[in-house]
Amino acid sequence: VLGGVHGSERASVEVASRLVAILDAGFKHSRSVTILPSLFPANYAHADRSFRARLGAGHPTAEPDEATGRRTVLSDGTLYRDPNRNMPQVGRCHRSSELRDALGFAIEAENLFLLDLVAQTRPVGIVSVHCIGRRPAILPEMQGRLNLPGIFVDPVTDLDLHITRKMFRTMPEICESDELALTASSLVRTRQRELIRQGEVADRYDDLRDDWVVGNWLDSPTPTARYARPNGIDEGVSLGEWGSRAVNSPSIAEHRRPGIPIFTVEVRGYYTSTDFDPTITACSGTAGDAFQLRKEQQERVWELQVHAEAIAEIFLR
Ligand SMILES: [Zn+2]
Repeated sequence: VLGGVHGSERASVEVASRLVAILDAGFKHSRSVTILPSLFPANYAHADRSFRARLGAGHPTAEPDEATGRRTVLSDGTLYRDPNRNMPQVGRCHRSSELRDALGFAIEAENLFLLDLVAQTRPVGIVSVHCIGRRPAILPEMQGRLNLPGIFVDPVTDLDLHITRKMFRTMPEICESDELALTASSLVRTRQRELIRQGEVADRYDDLRDDWVVGNWLDSPTPTARYARPNGIDEGVSLGEWGSRAVNSPSIAEHRRPGIPIFTVEVRGYYTSTDFDPTITACSGTAGDAFQLRKEQQERVWELQVHAEAIAEIFLR
């Protein structure tokens, strides 16, 4: 389970950290799991400092900046490649690709760490937590179902299952990944509705922007766990594309592995539950404002906690 692939998506780090806390509290899980709550900690710290500075400059309720901390800043001040588009060619391992990504750029140290870990542990699935902006209008007719919060999967294809069967004598456990993603999404939805009934979370449900997993289209006749991406915008190979395909590089036998379903949890909004703490935020200072902030902060705790619980319940139990 990964958080903070994009350092600017700090809520993903909180979700992964909450998952650690759930396991520490004794959650009974049948799978062994590795959690990397903050894959790019320097980028996270950069984003965090930048957000605190903006708070200090009097932007208490602004959505955190999506760009700052998303990519690594190089020593000459330029931005490096998108960390999630920094994977080797599909089907190749990073060591036999001379630590270069599919476009020939050096793979960042943090991603090398991740790729070594994947080679060593051969996970049966990877859950990568991200965040997606909540401010832009995301009504379906306006956005063509793109870039919405939800739980998605890059599944292992039938072709790769076939390759995997030939490569490995024992077939690894390959889950029904679409169903798993939709079940996790349904659990988030159910919990959100319960919390609304209990008065813990405001009922703004008629506004699609407040549906925590709107991108899975659970209300439609054709709910989906497939990520709708704009075509041709991102160059390079993503973790989802690389990980879901089998690696069969003959030069490094131990790096051969089956395809791994890659689940992407897109949490609505970048901000953490502590970003708008009224005791640290320079809000206008009225009691009403402080109350409103505290309420939104508590709702955010619920939202991030529910995502962490869904990951534990559906992917780890
Ligand atoms: Zn991301």
